Amino acid sequence: MSQALPVSYVRVVGVERITPRVARVSFTGDGLAEILEDRPDQQMKLCFPRPGQDAPRLPVPDADDAYGMRWYEAYLAIPEPERPLMRSFTVRGYDRAAGLMTVDFVLHGDDGPAARWGRDARPGDVLGMVGPSSVYARPLPAADWLLLAGDETALPAIGTLLEYLPAGARALVYAEVADGAERQELGSPGEVAVHWVHRDRGGTLVDAVRAAELPAGTGAAWLAGEAGVVRALRRHLVVERQLPRAAVEFSGYWRASLTQDDAPTEEDLAWARERAGQEP
Ligand SMILES: Cc1cc2nc3c(=O)[nH]c(=O)nc-3n(C[C@H](O)[C@H](O)[C@H](O)COP(=O)(O)OP(=O)(O)OC[C@H]3O[C@@H](n4cnc5c(N)ncnc54)[C@H](O)[C@@H]3O)c2cc1C
Repeated sequence: MSQALPVSYVRVVGVERITPRVARVSFTGDGLAEILEDRPDQQMKLCFPRPGQDAPRLPVPDADDAYGMRWYEAYLAIPEPERPLMRSFTVRGYDRAAGLMTVDFVLHGDDGPAARWGRDARPGDVLGMVGPSSVYARPLPAADWLLLAGDETALPAIGTLLEYLPAGARALVYAEVADGAERQELGSPGEVAVHWVHRDRGGTLVDAVRAAELPAGTGAAWLAGEAGVVRALRRHLVVERQLPRAAVEFSGYWRASLTQDDAPTEEDLAWARERAGQEP
């Protein structure tokens, strides 16, 4: 069966600063209606143009891609000076009637090309998109309650996971943000308690989750954010809170002092093996 990832262009139609450090960008694109699914936590890669390019050069998809990785070979075959920079993002929303996809860009500083692009985005700007694909979907483990923890980069995924909760489902959210101005409205049919952790007040996600009173019954967790923080959170939940490993879904979304182009560290590789279930 072919698992070829969709590769497409998307065009900016609107930009809104939903908080001082988050730009919500609305995109249209041919084929979005077929590409985007009705499920939460859809992850994709955005391709950014090189300086001097109006639009990024995209890898040509191979329809017979049994393993879903041919696009990457095609990407690497693009000469380096023309090869787009690629970063991972989450579909924050898709309005099927209007044909509009929204993506939230965390404006973490001027040293990342994606953050810079989000800061300066204007209607008419064009990006490339690889994915999303249900092959990479991370279904939530079943449990009596769910803990969702992450920083600003995880809020788009947390927002959609909450929107898709069944009515009455119980969830606790721990969200670390720079300060009170970064808090967002998070709607859900579930019974959700949101705890905001403010960095400007010295709060950290790890301390907040360590101090959390978790409900009785079986629990599951979904963690995303800075890789070292995610590792510490997972260790705490599995070792100290005794959550089964399989009940903790985790993903490092960025690495302090490293770009997404930098090679994986030994620790990254060990965790990738663990996520794949190859090691305890
Ligand atoms: C599956 C997945 C989904 C994601 N979804 C989103 C999303 O919807 N919205 C979103 O904004 N991000 C999201 N991210 C995170 C995003 O891909 C990274 O933050 C990425 O590094 C941003 O690229 P950049 O070009 O701005 O910075 P890079 O060039 O990768 O890094 C430049 C510098 O910035 C630092 N840096 C990177 N991100 C941050 C940050 N958030 N805070 C502080 N410093 C940072 C790095 O350590 C490095 O020193 C997601 C990541 C993954 C893996």
